Amino acid sequence: MTTKEKINGRKIGIIGMARSGVSAAILAENLGGIPFVSDAKAASHLPVETERLKAAGIAFETGGHTAKLLDSDYLIVSPGVPLTIDIIKQAGSKGIPIFSEIEFAYWVCSSPIVAITGSNGKTTTTTLLGEIFSHAGIDTFVGGNIGKPFSEFVQKIPTKGLTVLEVSNFQLETISDFTPDTSIILNLTPDHLDRHKSFDHYKKAKFRITENQSKEQVLILNLDDPETIGSQIETKAEIKYFTTTVSKQATTFVRNNAIFSRYKNREEEIIKIKEILIPGPHNLQNALAATCAAMRYDVSPDVIKKVLKTFPGVEHRMEKVGMVAGINFINDSKATNVDSVCYALRSFDMPVYLLAGGRDKNSDFTPIAKYGKNKIKGILAIGEAKEKIFESLGQHFPVQFAETLEDAVRILFEMAIPGETILLSPGCASFDMFDNFEQRGRAFKKAVSNLKNGKGENETIAKK
Ligand code: ADP
Repeated sequence: MTTKEKINGRKIGIIGMARSGVSAAILAENLGGIPFVSDAKAASHLPVETERLKAAGIAFETGGHTAKLLDSDYLIVSPGVPLTIDIIKQAGSKGIPIFSEIEFAYWVCSSPIVAITGSNGKTTTTTLLGEIFSHAGIDTFVGGNIGKPFSEFVQKIPTKGLTVLEVSNFQLETISDFTPDTSIILNLTPDHLDRHKSFDHYKKAKFRITENQSKEQVLILNLDDPETIGSQIETKAEIKYFTTTVSKQATTFVRNNAIFSRYKNREEEIIKIKEILIPGPHNLQNALAATCAAMRYDVSPDVIKKVLKTFPGVEHRMEKVGMVAGINFINDSKATNVDSVCYALRSFDMPVYLLAGGRDKNSDFTPIAKYGKNKIKGILAIGEAKEKIFESLGQHFPVQFAETLEDAVRILFEMAIPGETILLSPGCASFDMFDNFEQRGRAFKKAVSNLKNGKGENETIAKK
């Protein structure tokens, strides 16, 4: 079936309005489809979305999903909507196909796609790789789970361009034909176990990224990640590995403290590790993955090196907020799972006060004891998970509670001495106290800038 036949004249039910839902509806409308958008939230919570739909003349409902959705040729489900809700179950039993928004936009996409998934590092690697391709003069489009829905820009992508997509496991759960030219699985650690039945179920969703790939296409895997390497991944794609050690198996690896890439039977030194601007062992893995992908598209080592030397990272990911009275503040609000907290801790060789907590995702906090040993001087726990953090880590480190993030920053500032670091790396979702992790990160930065400006804290700063 051609793309036109799949969309033109088809009744397309779209569940979930925010961002990707509206974009998918507009794309459907542009291509002659008949979209109908439905959201469980009240219209008052969706002012921007409902305005955009009205302006485009697209039908919608708010405040719940009605049977009108069941009069669709297929459904497009936003990543935030669980597949277990009633209306999706009913659609399933009526045999109505269910697709994710990336699947839908894929039907329209004319360029090759590099798709990036994994438990951690997706946004950093997607952004970094997008920068590398752009600097190499390639017409590059970056989006997906990263904030810019694929449907929003897919019609603008030229055949000669390259699309770099961050894809989440929720989006992969409902693909059908989606086929990246290059797939990257960065790592696999337990996350979202509140929504996935098991770790196995979560991993299987991630592996779907490669299920349609052919032998001309490439799957990039992390040789250092036991969960990836120990899994049975069914793929026809050519597998390329990256590793932080020396390995003959890997095309991109580390030797003598430098990244090397082996490509078309040639070995090239790309960059010395100390020259890479984004810090920490986790970011080295992201740099290796991006290098491995860039080499496949013949980007010159010089361009890769130039970008790795200057790419500052992405906001809310180990972001340097600044120093106040000799105390260093780092915003890692995007660390919404325990594994990223452990990686954050591994990036330090100086004493750290950890600000953690929020909404628990059914996580095990105890690995923090191992990675924080001899580093964490104290933990300030906030939000719904604070008691659990105390129970899991209280015998290893002093744990205190605070009611708000601002209070937590203030208390930690009192405790820390010059040369020490205060790290927000929550290991939890933010939704108990904030709209999202971005808002949490901004609140942290605001609290730090209040300290900097001495707002109500003159005495404290003078004391240091
Ligand atoms: P994602 O988009 O997969 O959530 P991000 O790039 O936004 O990944 O980073 C999320 C969190 O994980 C941040 O706290 C960051 O410091 C940490 N992180 C980034 N890359 C990695 C990696 N390769 N392995 C583990 N943690 C990582």
